[in-house]
Amino acid sequence: MKSKLYTPGPTKVPGAVLGAVGQQVLHHRSPEFSEKIRHVQDELGRLLETHNDTLIFTCSGTGMMEAAVANLLSRGDKAICLNNGKFGQRWVDICKVYGVDVVDHAVDWGVSIEPAALADLAAKHPDAKAVFVVHSETSTGALHDIEAMSKLLKGHNAVLVVDATSSVGVHEIRMDEWGIDVVVAGTQKALMTPPGLSFVSLNGRAWALVSSSDLPKYYFDFTMTWKRLQKKGQTPFTTAVSLVYGLDVALEMMDTEGWENVYARHARMGAAVRAAVEALGFRVLPAKPVNGLTVALCPPGVDGNQVVRVLDDEFGVRIAGGQDQLSGKAIRIGHMGGIRERDLPTVIGGLERALARIGHKVEPGAGLAALQRVLVGR
Ligand SMILES: *Cc1c(COP(=O)(O)O)cnc(C)c1O
Repeated sequence: MKSKLYTPGPTKVPGAVLGAVGQQVLHHRSPEFSEKIRHVQDELGRLLETHNDTLIFTCSGTGMMEAAVANLLSRGDKAICLNNGKFGQRWVDICKVYGVDVVDHAVDWGVSIEPAALADLAAKHPDAKAVFVVHSETSTGALHDIEAMSKLLKGHNAVLVVDATSSVGVHEIRMDEWGIDVVVAGTQKALMTPPGLSFVSLNGRAWALVSSSDLPKYYFDFTMTWKRLQKKGQTPFTTAVSLVYGLDVALEMMDTEGWENVYARHARMGAAVRAAVEALGFRVLPAKPVNGLTVALCPPGVDGNQVVRVLDDEFGVRIAGGQDQLSGKAIRIGHMGGIRERDLPTVIGGLERALARIGHKVEPGAGLAALQRVLVGR
């Protein structure tokens, strides 16, 4: 039997989405598929609250991060990277591979960088062409204030590029109102689709940079992709057609639930899981936590990787361990997308039992009680 997924990506995929993915493949040049991908791209635009075009690509989120660097920048350009974890570091690494002159603003894991710090950086580096940031840092669970960051960069020459892979569908993103220039994201997290699709949305300021970019790209060429879509309603290459059908159903489910309700559900689930793990002796790492996952430091003497293993092997619940410097020291529980409130007792109850199994004493039901207090609302 497969373990239940409570990982911060990929995430549990609802049956209706799996049903759509499992249908016979349509040809990627057929009029039906043209209509479908246009519709899904429009829906993604609605989700980002933008009138900008949104382009879908066949890759995981990292592919879209790399594509953003390759399409926006030119040789020798300077870029500011806000680096507060593994995915912030990924922006740095990608920029370096492309020969970008990186201002690496690295802070301790768990920290959310203050907008004021970005204001200082932008003033110090007026020649920077772009600022790369992660909205929801999935390695630490820290949330960035994208609205404030975006608003303060108005009038600055750098574009703001936001990796929203674990925040889109969890936290509201008002791309146009906040003035975000570029959003990239994968769809295998809160968007409840099996891994393999990502998307990007760019405003006019960003497209102007794209038109002068001289970094190498072929498969991920935004201009070519956009032109092909305008002219023929097609993608240049064979898109993961089946996943587009799955994503369509996932977005429809969210639309039916109501975007406001989707965000409110994640806020409740975030608060409940944070309370539950704290009641079990863990410490939530970030001061400003995201709502799609919980990253918590283990109580003294508890090995996070062992917790993950025992929970999976003996209780059929798959969470994630800490990454890199947090390996063994933390656990990461995903509660986004297809995870509902009613799924939470399974992961918290399992966690209590796994702790008991490895010899760490907790009061049976302590985590569940804390969880229920939040969900019941008192
Ligand atoms: C999951 C994730 C990505 C993409 O990782 P892939 O392994 O390429 O799917 C990028 N950024 C963030 C913040 C993520 O959580």
